[in-house]
Amino acid sequence: MDHFHYRNRILHCEDVPVRQLADLYGTPLFVYSKATLLHHLGEIQKAFAEVDPLICYSIKTNGNLHLCRLLSEAGSGFDVTSGGELYRALNAGGSGDKIVFAGVGKTDSEIRYALENDVFLFNVESEAELHNLADVARGVGKAAGAALRVNPDLPPKTHAKTDTSVKGVKFGLDIDTVLDVAKGVVGNPHVRVVGLHMHLGSPILSAKPYQEGVAKGLILIDRLRDMGHPISVLNMGGGFGIHYRKREAQPASAFAEVIVPAVRKAKCRLVLEPGRFIVGNAGILVSRVLFLKESGGKQFLIQDAAMNDLIRPTLYDSFHRIWPAEPPEGLPAPPDDFEAEIPQTLKQDVVGPVCESGDFLAKDRCLPVLKRGDVLATFSAGAYGMAMSSNYNSRPRAAEVLVDGGRHRLIRRRETHEDLIRPELEV
Ligand SMILES: *Cc1c(COP(=O)(O)O)cnc(C)c1O
Repeated sequence: MDHFHYRNRILHCEDVPVRQLADLYGTPLFVYSKATLLHHLGEIQKAFAEVDPLICYSIKTNGNLHLCRLLSEAGSGFDVTSGGELYRALNAGGSGDKIVFAGVGKTDSEIRYALENDVFLFNVESEAELHNLADVARGVGKAAGAALRVNPDLPPKTHAKTDTSVKGVKFGLDIDTVLDVAKGVVGNPHVRVVGLHMHLGSPILSAKPYQEGVAKGLILIDRLRDMGHPISVLNMGGGFGIHYRKREAQPASAFAEVIVPAVRKAKCRLVLEPGRFIVGNAGILVSRVLFLKESGGKQFLIQDAAMNDLIRPTLYDSFHRIWPAEPPEGLPAPPDDFEAEIPQTLKQDVVGPVCESGDFLAKDRCLPVLKRGDVLATFSAGAYGMAMSSNYNSRPRAAEVLVDGGRHRLIRRRETHEDLIRPELEV
């Protein structure tokens, strides 16, 4: 479910025509739907309601303060992976008791910053980190709450670059060493191991890996309790997939079906860290056609968004649906299947202005023949879009707009040329 739809062949975000936003705010532009954002948080809250979970939105997915504030007001906490993300979460109204801190390389100053703000749990990824956490906590006279992040060693589930629970990735403690590591801190007054954490990877389109992961988790929780660690939290991470190609995503209830019974059995508080599921389908990237070009037997559709705005196609071979905001007269409405042959279209590579052959949003994509100035929408761009953007080629970052019914407002202004050089002048 999302609120990007064609009404009389004109793409709207909620009640606002997307071309109007492009005219008003310029392109490239990220456009978000408030109703879609809150709907997806609500779907997870509803699906898991019977175990009253702590939902910690993974802020790395899209850290815009205005979006994060909406989520915080709707009851979400935050999953952070750096001091900068913690700063963002606190500025978005987050409070420490609803924040979990992940990452394999937390620095001492990040740990102190998190302790000062009484974050709920550190998700600990190695033995060295666990002891360092205890040392830093001792230094400031505190006890850190910790969840051991385990790598449950499951079969591959998604793109190799985003699979975090197969053997040989940097994340988590190996499942066969986690108990030995836990033994080393039994009774340590500065680190309380109260949770077990796993994040399986992303995006995951089936509940099966969660079923397998949680089963392994239950066994570990028993063993950790036997050892003397009062485990009261099970954190199953994020990773729930979304619609990129068509309607391929599972509803939150499919994941709840396998996770909730395990949480009940373990008598734990459930923590979830969804990112993509909440914001992914709530945003699109809007761009404008610059030129058409034929070269080497290929058709190129050159438009003004680039890999610096949305790097997922280049980085992960990701597929994003792309369609004009106002398809030319007599041409088909957006297809149900963007990967099928589409009548009255031409296979085109959708590329941007950046100086890399890897700068593309789509390859060999069936699209109508467009003309200069036409507006394009790249769908499902709310997650890992703006968050992974850069200034490569000294391109100012795009603006971001939030739509609420018939209203719209800027939630991040477009960067200027002056923004690009300011940190170099302030030295
Ligand atoms: C990235 C990440 C998430 C969020 O993943 P999504 O697929 O966006 O839900 C959650 N937890 C951890 C530890 C992560 O690294």
